[in-house]
Amino acid sequence: MTSTPSAPSPDSSAGSHEPLALPLDDADWRRQLTPDEYRVLRQAGTEAPFTGEYWDATTEGVYCCRACGLELFRSHAKFNAHCGWPSFFAPLAEDRVEYIKDVSLGMERVEVRCSRCHSHMGHVFAGEGYETPTDLRYCINSISLRLVEHGDAQE
Ligand SMILES: [Zn+2]
Repeated sequence: MTSTPSAPSPDSSAGSHEPLALPLDDADWRRQLTPDEYRVLRQAGTEAPFTGEYWDATTEGVYCCRACGLELFRSHAKFNAHCGWPSFFAPLAEDRVEYIKDVSLGMERVEVRCSRCHSHMGHVFAGEGYETPTDLRYCINSISLRLVEHGDAQE
């Protein structure tokens, strides 16, 4: 019968963009994430196309890792690839993501993960002919991201 009082601490100001503390183990991740988030972020699942909240979003802002809050992609690198997932032609910085060869499903793809918490983001595809500066398509699950919109204060 231990009940932990969970009054919000006055220091934790809402809207802070500080990175979240990383969970220590798998049980921690399960507590912190919803089942759908857990399946994609920690088990490299894929959300159904055209269902995520960001695939056609054009709002300006920064897309952060939903698991740990690291800033991963900027909205100005997002383009409409008509594939049903948010697509970016470049990460915010190369050190924000890590690349892992993925040979599941009988094809060779490059998996993209968050470099801080190693959560699954999606895959990156090259040379598809999109008219972007890099001709790369970072095909990322909406549920792996959280959009932090640019405030009106920014002029
Ligand atoms: Zn992360």
